[in-house]
Amino acid sequence: MGVHIVEESKRCLMCKRAMCQLKGCPVQTPIPQVIELFRERKIDEAGEVLFANNPMSAVCSAVCNHMGQCEGACIQGKKGTPIHFSSIEHYISTTYLERHEFAPAPSCGKRVAVIGSGPAGITVAIKLAQAGCAVTVFEQRAEIGGVLEYGIPDFRLPRTLVQRYRKVMCDLGVRVRPSTTIGGALRIDDLLRDGYDAVFVGTGTWRAQTGHSGRDPR
Ligand SMILES: Cc1cc2nc3c(=O)[nH]c(=O)nc-3n(C[C@H](O)[C@H](O)[C@H](O)COP(=O)(O)OP(=O)(O)OC[C@H]3O[C@@H](n4cnc5c(N)ncnc54)[C@H](O)[C@@H]3O)c2cc1C
Repeated sequence: MGVHIVEESKRCLMCKRAMCQLKGCPVQTPIPQVIELFRERKIDEAGEVLFANNPMSAVCSAVCNHMGQCEGACIQGKKGTPIHFSSIEHYISTTYLERHEFAPAPSCGKRVAVIGSGPAGITVAIKLAQAGCAVTVFEQRAEIGGVLEYGIPDFRLPRTLVQRYRKVMCDLGVRVRPSTTIGGALRIDDLLRDGYDAVFVGTGTWRAQTGHSGRDPR
């Protein structure tokens, strides 16, 4: 569905207790604040708010279950059509990723290893790099993104967007080591021995559940 996002933003009632944010969004995206900034044409500021709250905002705007979350909780949807916030968010957050110049933060002296470059690993790497940590991401596959790269089809989530995050991390000073599995020749103990102060494990849930449903078969 194509929507005119400026007109769409004007339909927002700016609820004091915004259910889209409070009940609808698992990461509490400050939707009224973002819509207000967007209405004032403060696109960069709106993008900054979205990125600070959730660096994967551009991805979430494309692949979240919007009707089950923010748009499903929108008060306008009770009697009519909910605000199509995902389209507004997508425009703002992809524009922000294109325009904003990311740069390394002053060092805090800590080194962190991030295992896995799915949305969890990317988010942690970005947040820690912004806090001044020297971050290295270890990814067993050739490309970053996890399910974003290898599970969700391109027509739902363009690969160019996933690759954009590689540039963001690179600009923030994050080192990415693709095709490197942790748990084989290289283990978490080795990382700690190499001087990493902390290790984040964001390896996802790739092994399919097999066998019975977990209920007692008797
Ligand atoms: C087919 C499919 C479609 C989906 N569609 C949607 C959707 O439309 N909307 C939505 O909101 N959610 C969707 N999901 C769910 C969503 O993709 C996951 O919730 C999300 O990817 C989890 O992120 P993650 O970073 O925890 O793990 P993952 O995305 O799984 O990333 C984990 C990463 O760790 C790497 N890794 C694993 N083990 C190691 C190791 N030992 N050493 C180094 N690296 C390692 C993996 O290669 C991978 O890159 C979908 C999931 C699947 C499977």
